[in-house]
Amino acid sequence: MGYVTRIVIIGGGPGGYEAALVAAQLGAEVTVVERDGPGGSCVLTDCVPSKTLIATSVRKQALLDAASLGVNFSGGADGDVGGVRVDLPLVNQRVKDLARAQSADVAARLEAEGVEVIKASGRLVDPQLVRAGDRTLRADVVIVATGATPRVLPGSEPDGERILDWRQLYDLDTLPEHLIVVGSGVTGAEFAGAYRSLGSEVTLVSSRDRMMPNEDADAAEVLEEVYRRRGMNVMGRSRAASVKRTNDGVVVTLEDGRTAEGTHCLMTVGMVPNTSGIGLEEAGVRLGKGGFVEVDKVSRTSAPGVYAAGDCTGVLMLASVAAMQGRIAVWHALGEAVHPLRLATVASNIFTDPEIAAVGISQAQIERGEIEANVVKLPLATNARAKMQGFTDGFIKLFCRPNTGIVLGGVVVAPRASELILALSLAVQQRLTVDQLAHTFAVYPSLSGSITEAARRLMQPVTSVGI
Ligand SMILES: Cc1cc2nc3c(=O)[nH]c(=O)nc-3n(C[C@H](O)[C@H](O)[C@H](O)COP(=O)(O)OP(=O)(O)OC[C@H]3O[C@@H](n4cnc5c(N)ncnc54)[C@H](O)[C@@H]3O)c2cc1C
Repeated sequence: MGYVTRIVIIGGGPGGYEAALVAAQLGAEVTVVERDGPGGSCVLTDCVPSKTLIATSVRKQALLDAASLGVNFSGGADGDVGGVRVDLPLVNQRVKDLARAQSADVAARLEAEGVEVIKASGRLVDPQLVRAGDRTLRADVVIVATGATPRVLPGSEPDGERILDWRQLYDLDTLPEHLIVVGSGVTGAEFAGAYRSLGSEVTLVSSRDRMMPNEDADAAEVLEEVYRRRGMNVMGRSRAASVKRTNDGVVVTLEDGRTAEGTHCLMTVGMVPNTSGIGLEEAGVRLGKGGFVEVDKVSRTSAPGVYAAGDCTGVLMLASVAAMQGRIAVWHALGEAVHPLRLATVASNIFTDPEIAAVGISQAQIERGEIEANVVKLPLATNARAKMQGFTDGFIKLFCRPNTGIVLGGVVVAPRASELILALSLAVQQRLTVDQLAHTFAVYPSLSGSITEAARRLMQPVTSVGI
């Protein structure tokens, strides 16, 4: 029998468990050291719970919007909008049950593949030795996939009652009367929209000119308009200096001295990597800015035999990227054929309502002169299916190379944009041209019809259309 490679993975989120599954399938002896539960923060506290909550809020919003399609509700409890009532304890129970079930699925999958899971905190003793609780594990390869934790503003620490991080939201018994969301990045925008649709009054405190400053500007503008229309108070250029509890709520003081008062405050001010106190630097693993593990495109760290994947590397904080980094680490470590990580083809989605999905290059890159591209933007309001379904907010934006027409990327702002973006991902990944996309059949009537229509518009020799 040949030599069996021993792989120890610290952290059982997508970066860790996806690596474990691939490694086990390739015949390695695999141990995952995870302190909370299989699936990691992604499954237990972050991605899965938030998307489950958002499923409820989107359904509620659809009911609120149903009047425009001729459906009316009556006879609701006092104070309920249009007779639609949200039972928050039930919603939260569903969120927690679903997260636990998802974690159990991951655990079962790992067990079926013969992966050992140790519930403990892990730390590197040296590049080939991991301490997990009272056990010491020898390894040929170590993968660090410890994820990240919500950043805390000093002096405004969450107390789990009134000042909350997103991991504490699911313990609330009642819907916050007035939720102030500090931080208007993707996480802040998703939760602000969700709680507004569920029925809370919401104030979104954004330190920048607009919400989601790192995303497509047109998309952020559409969302801000929708949020304001739904009654959200979006405060731009308002950096929070402190959040304090009052007798029956919270007061957020802004750097310019203004204040905002609410009953609860949700802090979404970024993430810090879980990389301190676990022996990384002592073992020769270099940490970069903000304490993130430095990795190359095949997930190697500066210490031989030690790889890192996922949020602890800060490369692109998405579950799909974490998983791919983990798999790449395994393929590289085991000498399999491996393609370096290509961020240009990563599809991402913001689970607001409407959703915002994107792939490939961005309009900001074009405007900065980094890439030359033709652009077309088709408002959803011109799409027949959107009109039938009563959707007016959103658009399809497509970028292509000026001469060859090769699709370079796109943005979709629409209900279920996360599903629609696949057509564009495929085009970017396979280097399809707008001609090829335009000659593809789309169902009539369908939102995806706007994708093929956008491609048709780009078949003409233009420099810029419809911006
Ligand atoms: C609110 C929210 C919503 C999100 N929604 C999405 C989404 O819709 N789609 C998407 O793609 N991404 C989403 N993300 C991002 C996604 O959750 C992360 O990119 C993903 O979880 C990263 O996976 P990971 O394996 O690196 O880390 P994690 O999922 O954080 O897992 C790391 C695990 O390691 C454990 N750990 C840490 N240190 C140790 C130690 N020393 N010993 C043992 N175990 C340890 C941690 O407890 C944790 O369980 C969201 C993030 C947030 C905050």
